[in-house]
Amino acid sequence: MKRTVLLLPDQLNLHRGALADSSPADTTVLVIDSDRYLASRPWHRQRIFLFYSALEHFLVELRSAGYQVIKIRAANMADGITQYRNQHLTAELIAGEPNSISQQYALNQYGIKLVPNDFFLTSRSDFQAWANSQKSLKMENFYRQQRVRLNLLMSGDEPVGGKWNLDHENRLPPPKGKSDYPKPRQYEFDEIDEAVWQELATREITLWGDEPDGSWATTRAGALQRLTDFIAQGLADFGAYEDAMPQNSWSVYHSLLTPYLNIGLLTPAEVISAAIEKYEQGGIPLASIEGFVRQIIGWREYINGTYWHFGTGYEKSNNLNADRKLLPLYWDESKTKMNCVGSIVGDVKARGYAHHIPRLMVLSNLALLAGVEPTEYLDWMTNTFVDAFDWVMVPNVIGMGLHADGGKMMTKPYVAGGSYISKMGQYCNGCFYDPKLRVGETACPFTTLYWDFLDRHRAEFFNNHRMRQQYFGLAKLSDLAELKLRAQQVLTGLANGTI
Ligand code: FAD
Ligand code: SF4
Repeated sequence: MKRTVLLLPDQLNLHRGALADSSPADTTVLVIDSDRYLASRPWHRQRIFLFYSALEHFLVELRSAGYQVIKIRAANMADGITQYRNQHLTAELIAGEPNSISQQYALNQYGIKLVPNDFFLTSRSDFQAWANSQKSLKMENFYRQQRVRLNLLMSGDEPVGGKWNLDHENRLPPPKGKSDYPKPRQYEFDEIDEAVWQELATREITLWGDEPDGSWATTRAGALQRLTDFIAQGLADFGAYEDAMPQNSWSVYHSLLTPYLNIGLLTPAEVISAAIEKYEQGGIPLASIEGFVRQIIGWREYINGTYWHFGTGYEKSNNLNADRKLLPLYWDESKTKMNCVGSIVGDVKARGYAHHIPRLMVLSNLALLAGVEPTEYLDWMTNTFVDAFDWVMVPNVIGMGLHADGGKMMTKPYVAGGSYISKMGQYCNGCFYDPKLRVGETACPFTTLYWDFLDRHRAEFFNNHRMRQQYFGLAKLSDLAELKLRAQQVLTGLANGTI
């Protein structure tokens, strides 16, 4: 009797999850195309296209490896499973442990046997054991343990170069006049891509953002090309310009690998080995390789671990009682005169991507300073980014971006005024606003709202020793009353799309 693997769309890997121990002789692969899933939320066009097309390409790979693949279109996942079981009365259904809590719950309800999730370098139980042994969940401590456990960039018991974290050598602003950033490769549409795009046009679905333009590969071969490109062109300067926001490059030296890592087309282990191999050949600064390794074995694993550690309900946290509706500028960049926000929302609309600093220090910083209700912002981020999944969006938005969890993850909120964006980006010169001004018509909204935020949230943050400098600065402001009035105008203008 053949077993049936229910293939989950973010587990597209023959050597991982439920397919790892399978062979065409003993396994049938089942895919359920659920109408409810498509209709459940608005989608960035490139996000839904990537998911559907990568799945179709993977099914071709499975068929050519000899697997029988059965695809059922159904009103929802439960209906699809029932249809399959009605036709295959004795079938045993197996799936890889899902990456999201709600999906895990659903598959348990349907009585599907789950195989442990091996799409990460750290098992859920190992992370839990680490978390239970800690007073606070500091990423840096987790990362050091990962370096030792995985024996990466180690010299005996010590980190190579003597320091665990070389971030102080990174964080350079974009150099003036620089224009030779790596240009991400564009991928040609194949017949499967064409067919998927035409099929999606016939479905009941709400779409947003630009049409697929070849920015994202839909195959493992394309994902591997992107890894090769990054190792050859991006890795050396990755560290130094990790936080830079030039206006003439949306990708800077970033790897652009999350869309593939997060659906199983690439594994973190192969990404790390490619980077380490290049470093060992020479020519890669230690600060760059260390910074990149930290992102993959540290941040990515830590975020996944915290998602399962905090569990159900965390995604609804709202400890700062933020209650403002999502600002219209997130859907439409013409609803703001802020050059940084407008440009970045334009980038996101163009390809469903912005690197870490625009996500954190521009888009999320604005939502936090303006008091946008966390689930409204979380939904927008999830509907929009090509690499978005609950396990990664929820902790990044709720814990890191919006500090909505009362500091369970981060000891202080990531808030900044216009001076940070002006230093790390190249947007302010072409802006209607002035990052140095906090009051008046041309005051930078970030700068005004930053001081207003600190004042509004004295009760939460005044005694936080990591924010002493910030409150010291607030105490020295002579125009706080005027600034508070301006902040109200800014908040009204953001809500009606005139700021
Ligand atoms: P690079 O800058 O090249 O970094 C290398 C790798 O490090 C990434 O591919 C990623 O796998 C890993 N990484 C680094 N930081 C994180 C992190 N905080 N969480 C998880 N992985 C990390 N990442 C997603 O994969 N999906 C998301 O939906 C997502 N949403 C985010 C929302 C907010 C508010 C913030 C602040 C961050 C979010 N991130 C998310 C993390 C990070 O911004 C992206 O992983 C990164 O920008 C993806 O681009 P890249 O592959 O070019 O990464
Ligand atoms: Fe952004 Fe303010 Fe600079 Fe304008 S002045 S680009 S709003 S930081």
